[in-house]
Formats: sequence, C-alpha cells, structure tokens
Amino acid sequence: MNSKIRHPVKNETSLWIENLVDGVSGLTIKARHALFCGSSPFQKIEVFDTYSFGLVLCLGGTVVLTERGSEPYHEMMVHPAMLMHPDPKRICIIGGGDGGCLNEVLRHPSVETVTVVEIDRMVRETVQTHFPLFSQGFNDSRTELVIDDGYHFLSSTDKQFDLILVDSYDPGGPVRSLETSDFYSIVAGRLNAGGIAVFQIGPPLVNEDFLRDSALSVSSLYAQYKVSTCSIRSFPEGSCCFITACADQKGLDGFNRVGYELISDQCCYYSDEVHKGAFMLPRCVKRIFCP
Ligand code: SAM
Repeated sequence: MNSKIRHPVKNETSLWIENLVDGVSGLTIKARHALFCGSSPFQKIEVFDTYSFGLVLCLGGTVVLTERGSEPYHEMMVHPAMLMHPDPKRICIIGGGDGGCLNEVLRHPSVETVTVVEIDRMVRETVQTHFPLFSQGFNDSRTELVIDDGYHFLSSTDKQFDLILVDSYDPGGPVRSLETSDFYSIVAGRLNAGGIAVFQIGPPLVNEDFLRDSALSVSSLYAQYKVSTCSIRSFPEGSCCFITACADQKGLDGFNRVGYELISDQCCYYSDEVHKGAFMLPRCVKRIFCP
C-alpha cells in the first residue's frame, strides 16, 4: 500500500492524496493543504487537512490515521479481544503511536497498565501536536510509552501481558522486524495464561499469500485463532482483517457481557452483534484461511 501526493493543476488550490494498493487502485482524498511534512530516521511523516476525513496522518506515504472515520479500525482491533478475555489488566500495544488503540483500551475499567511500544518518537510528537484528542490516552496514569522496536522490546522484557495488540502493520515499513517468522512466537511467549494476541493483517482480498502465511504462523503457535474483518472507509480497499489468537483452546469463545455494557455506549462501530458478525467471513475470504 503506498501513496503518492499528486500536486494540483495550476488553478486548483488543493492536493490529492492517493492512498493506493500496489500503486494501481485505491482511494484519493482531496486536501486543502499540508500542515506538516517531515522525516524521522524511520519514515516520512505528513499531516494534511482534508475535506472528508479532517486531519490525516501519513507515514511513509500511507494514510494511517484520520481525524474522522478511524473509529472502526481502533474499536475492532481492541474491543473483541478485550471482551473475550475474562479480566484483561495488563495490555501491550506494539506500534500504535497514534494513540487510537490506546484510547479504546483505556475505556475498560479492568485495565491496570497499558505499555505502548512505538519505534518512532516523531510519530508520537506529531500526533501530540496535530491530533490532541488521539493523544490524550498518553496522559493517563495507566499508560507507559516505550520508544523501541517492538521486536526488541518483547524479546528482551520479562513482562507478561493479558493482551498484546500489534498495531504496526506496514509491510515494507520502517523496520521489517515485525515481519520475521519468529515474531509471532515472541508475542506468544509474552502472554499470560489465557492471554490473547491481535494482529492487523491488512486488506482481506489483496495479499492472500500474506494472510495465509500469517494464519499458518499463528495456527502453529496458538491453540485457537479467529479472523475478523471490519469496514473502514479510509483504507484504500475499504476494509481490513485482524487475526485474534489465544493459547487456550477456548480462549476466544467468551464474551464479558458486564464489561461490554460498561463501554458499549462509547462505541460508534462495535456492538455485541458486530462482535459476532465480524468473525463471520465472506466466502471469498474464508477460503483463504480454509482452502
Ligand atoms: N493505525 C495504523 C493503521 O491504520 O494501519 C497502524 C499503525 S501505523 C501503520 C504503524 C505504527 O507502528 C507507526 O506508528 C510506526 O511508527 C510503528 N511501527 C512500525 N514498525 C514498528 C516496530 N518494529 N516497532 C514498534 N513500532 C513500529
């Protein structure tokens, strides 16, 4: 997935952000102007003011956060797993320096600590400046921000977690360490008994080999895994997939109804019905995982 900023013809005053899949199809977003263009040691970082999504954060030319319309992604990465687990207290988010997943995790009163491991300090700083609402989770006393490579952090910490959310999908992104075959087992090794891992694995029908390989890696390490999808209008294909995995055979079958009632009215996409429906895959997606 990559983007190219196409500058307008002479008499236009706005930019078009192209958020494409393999450069051949995707989404174009009309922007009034650029608010920030910079580069960190890892990636290009840009912020645009757009007509339909509000402020948009691009990393390495890819849209990764929108002021309007990113709720489905963050809610569906967080709440299904949080409510499958009976009592999630210690959470780790790999990537996710934009704060979107962090804010959703913090809605759950059971949470005692959230460790966010973001490799790029400049992402955090850019979000703090331009997306203050997304940034507020980092001021919560339960939050710990670690600036590090997620692979290095998980392979060197002795901490254990109830949930590990890998919000750093970006094949070909700044650091390829999260694409190594042993990353999935490192994550598994850092989970408490009954712990749950969630991996974003991108759009359902674009890179089938990547999805199949991800599921194969997960199925060899976790007793149970489920694939879910969510529709999200800011993604070039309009949807994305998650793999949720647990070392326990039935670790993904629970639903904490009491915990759900505490957060449901704060959600705009997730619900108990969506919790069920998200794991019911269209035929063309299901066959990727069960050929
Ligand atoms: N919310 C985004 C989306 O909608 O696709 C996903 C987050 S963005 C693509 C990936 C985030 O993970 C970025 O903030 C990036 O800096 C961070 N990241 C990438 N590789 C990382 C690594 N190896 N360790 C920690 N953070 C990493």
